[in-house]
Amino acid sequence: AMNVRAASTFIKDKAYINGEWVLADSGSTFDVINPANGKVLGTVPDCGETEMKRAIDCAHTAFYQWRDRSPKERSAILRKWYDLIVENHEELAKVITAENGKPLADARGEMAYGTSFVEWYAEEAKRIQGDTIQSSAANKRLMVIKQPVGVAGMITPWNFPNAMITRKAAPALAAGCTVVLKPAEDTPFSALALCELAEQAGVPAGVLNVVTASRNNTPAVGKVMCKSEKVMKISFTGSSGVGKILMEQSGSTVKRMSMELGGNAPFIVFNSANLDQAVAGAMNCKFRCSGQTCICANRIMVQEGIHDQFVAAFKTAIGSLKIGDGFVDGTTQGPLIHSKAVDKAEEHVKDAVSKGACIAIGGKRVSSLGDNYYEPTLLTDISTQMLCTQEETFGPVAPIMKFKDEEEALRIANSTNVGLAGYFFSNDIAQIFRVAEKLEVGMVGINEGIISGVEIPFGGIKESGIGREGGKYGIEEYLESKYLCFGGV
Ligand code: ADP
Repeated sequence: AMNVRAASTFIKDKAYINGEWVLADSGSTFDVINPANGKVLGTVPDCGETEMKRAIDCAHTAFYQWRDRSPKERSAILRKWYDLIVENHEELAKVITAENGKPLADARGEMAYGTSFVEWYAEEAKRIQGDTIQSSAANKRLMVIKQPVGVAGMITPWNFPNAMITRKAAPALAAGCTVVLKPAEDTPFSALALCELAEQAGVPAGVLNVVTASRNNTPAVGKVMCKSEKVMKISFTGSSGVGKILMEQSGSTVKRMSMELGGNAPFIVFNSANLDQAVAGAMNCKFRCSGQTCICANRIMVQEGIHDQFVAAFKTAIGSLKIGDGFVDGTTQGPLIHSKAVDKAEEHVKDAVSKGACIAIGGKRVSSLGDNYYEPTLLTDISTQMLCTQEETFGPVAPIMKFKDEEEALRIANSTNVGLAGYFFSNDIAQIFRVAEKLEVGMVGINEGIISGVEIPFGGIKESGIGREGGKYGIEEYLESKYLCFGGV
């Protein structure tokens, strides 16, 4: 309870539409649960179609003012938003830990990451540039100008309750778009806290709207967003299944889409790898946020010559992880988001063991801590027949496959219909180029397990998504190129 009070200024119990804190017309609400202990943190409105339509109408009206503000004005407001978020960094990190469960140190890391997008796009707001083009005709002059796409609808996941919002909303607002956001039902408080600070920063009414909805109401609310003729763009981060639904629903209005969907990241350790680097990379990229990031290593492949050493060192490192409530000092592994997530980890381990895998460490729930805890787990003797190599586990389970040569590793790595991140460790320069170019993913970590950052194009290929977030690429998702042809010159 102490932890909730510590974060209480930012525990809002209303949705934020057109600059007002509002309840659902129906008056219904739903509970937000702390995954560390199952206790209710608070309630938020269970909005439906009516509230979503209202938010879209307001964002649409606000768009015509916001788009006409000067880039410098938009930049100054975003900068103020950034300053306020930085000022409240610690409080906001506590909100993340309270609703998501990740250790406070990870929540602080997320805040630093999330905040960097607001800073970056406050700067980028002033650097939106078009082109002039030499015409093939002597009497024409050609120009391309950039304009905001319009109202942007956003749906975000619970695994980065703050950063997945700023990574979308900051470039959208910088470009001159207005935003209607439906945050994950598990983690609405981080979204609402950002609205509070946006308002203080001078973001005008209707420019940033947050419509909270329970899992029950979400499909209807999402459908309104996709079908609306006033929404010009959908940006979604979440599962591939839901991404496909949103794409289908958006077909009738030909929306611009940005999709950050699931991955099944290969993590390959070649014989020439530096063992310490590879183990550190695997620890960072498998166990951060208890394995609940879309770029977490999902299939770890280790070449025969280094396999046994790698397994031994990785096992020792995993043994040093500390599982518990994210607010407790020294915790490195918090709870998973809910017990269904634990069920999935458990199912993947059981399936692997039934097909011949060995548990090197972990492999059990930690019921003494609560319903949502699963031990950091290392599995060996993994084959491609096992579920844990076919689907994203999204939990703290590290399965290791042994492979013979580069060709086999690439064949296995690419034999999936998703392609978000991939990682490999090698000190053979020719191999590094070959593998980096051949991995069918949007992002590659080479001798590195932490690849995210504000300046890079985050995104995937295949069914992992469409579009890129971050850096100079991220703002393009919210801009149209309009071509102007001047004749009779
Ligand atoms: P997860 O399984 O990790 O919760 P989801 O893709 O289900 O991932 O959730 C990501 C976001 O998508 C959440 O905000 C969730 O509420 C939302 N969502 C889930 N189902 C739908 C749907 N049918 N339409 C629109 N949004 C949805």
